[in-house]
Parts: sequence; structure tokens; C-alpha cells
Amino acid sequence: MTKIYKNKDFEDKLKRIIKDGEEHLHLIIDFDKTITKECTSKGVRNTSFGIIQKSKLMPQGYVKETNEFYKYYHDLEMSRTISQKEKTKYMIEWWVRVYEIMKKYNLNLNQIKEIVKENPFIFRKGTKNLFDLCEKANIPILIFSAGITQVIELGLKHENLNQKNVHVVSNKFEFNEDGSINNFGPIVVQSQNKDERIVRGTPYEKILKKKRNVIVIGDLPADVTMTRGMDHDNELYIGLLNEFSEEKLKQYLDNFDAVITHDGPFDFVIDLIKSISKQ
Ligand SMILES: [Mg+2]
Repeated sequence: MTKIYKNKDFEDKLKRIIKDGEEHLHLIIDFDKTITKECTSKGVRNTSFGIIQKSKLMPQGYVKETNEFYKYYHDLEMSRTISQKEKTKYMIEWWVRVYEIMKKYNLNLNQIKEIVKENPFIFRKGTKNLFDLCEKANIPILIFSAGITQVIELGLKHENLNQKNVHVVSNKFEFNEDGSINNFGPIVVQSQNKDERIVRGTPYEKILKKKRNVIVIGDLPADVTMTRGMDHDNELYIGLLNEFSEEKLKQYLDNFDAVITHDGPFDFVIDLIKSISKQ
């Protein structure tokens, strides 16, 4: 059952954010297993790479090769013994290898559209409510993801979550006129390098400069680095501990100010936004 845990800094941070009000607030949210549910019990790989990998529309060879990478690199991503620097190296390597396979099997834009339609993301309960509340209060949302921009944007659109206040910064494909992949952008976002440098030069940079408070939401301890290099007065971190263990809870409370357990809904975040925006 979902429980909420808070550390000792939580109430003070929240008080300061409430005092400053909605006009000074923005949200930075991770996508995979944060906006989407983790859904481990159903064996669904509910991430922007995962829905392609699991799709019946993809050839067997693609599924097999990317599955092997997943087994190898996902363990490294979750490892608590290898250094951040090494993790970064592995994550980039993973991304590049999957990208090469996508090209090898001629993944194209039309296929991606079909996949998102046939096998849509399962979003965390309350996502629409949260996004609507933020839109009403003029609170911008930055979705900061190590996934794929176009897959995320199509997934959001499919559920009418592509409001004007929602911005996606992730890895971008460049498509040829026939929809085939030409290239991906020069910056590779992976789970260990999300920070201000990636946002630089994007339209969100201007919004960021005007906001002095932020609520950050993610499912990995590394997600707290999403604000690194950014200038805020108050940063409130909320962690999603989807697969609960006492040991992990301790680690999450060292990194996040509040923790939502067991792949739970966004109700707690919705209440926070309501208290800040007085809706
Ligand atoms: Mg995630």
C-alpha cells in the first residue's frame, strides 16, 4: 500500500514555497517510471524505449538484441557500487547501441506513431489532474527525460496531456522526409547527466531563469541532479520508490524530501500544488 514519508527539511521548504506562491514555482519531472507507472507486476516495460522494445510491431531481432542490452545495462544503471562517472559512460554506450539497432531495423516515425497508439503509456494516476492544476495556476512543467522526445510527445498527445505549460527536454531524433531516422541530436541525455547544461539553449531556459522555486519529482536518486547548475532559492525533492524495501527507503530519504511508495498515485503532489496555488 502506498505510503508517504517525509524527511526533516520537508515542512520548512514547503512553507517557504507556499509563502512565495505559484508565480515563482515550476516543476521538473522525470518521465520513465515517474509520469508513467512502473507496473513491474504486469511485466510491462512502460518507458519510452520500453514500449518500442515490447511492441508486436517490431521485428523479433530488434526485440532480442535490445533485450540483451537491457539485461546488461539496466543492472549497471541500478548498481550502488560503481561510480557515477562509470555509470555515465555505460548509459551513453547503451543509448548509442540501441540507437544503432533502431537504425539497423529501420525504425521510422510512422511506426513510432503506430506503437504509441497500439500500446499507449500507462500514466501514473492523477497525471492529468496534476497537469491541469498546474496549467490553471500558470506553473510550467519541464519533463526532463533520458528517453526520446518524439515518443514522449506522442504519448502525451495521445492522452491529451500536451498542454501549453508542458515542455519536454530529452533525446531528439531527426527524421528524413520519408520518416526514417536520419540522426539524433548532439546532446545525449541519460539518467546520470540530467542537469542545467542540457536545458541550456532550449526554449525552457528562459522560463527557468524567471523561477526561483522548484518541485522536482523522480524515481531514481540520480534524478535529484536535474537541478544541478540551476539557480533556485528553494528546491523540494519528491521521490517515487516504486519497488519498496526498507534499505531503499533510507537511501531515498537521504536524497528526497518526501517519498511516495509502491508505484502510488500523484495525490500527494496534487495536494501540494493545491496548497501552493490556493486552488
Ligand atoms: Mg525514471
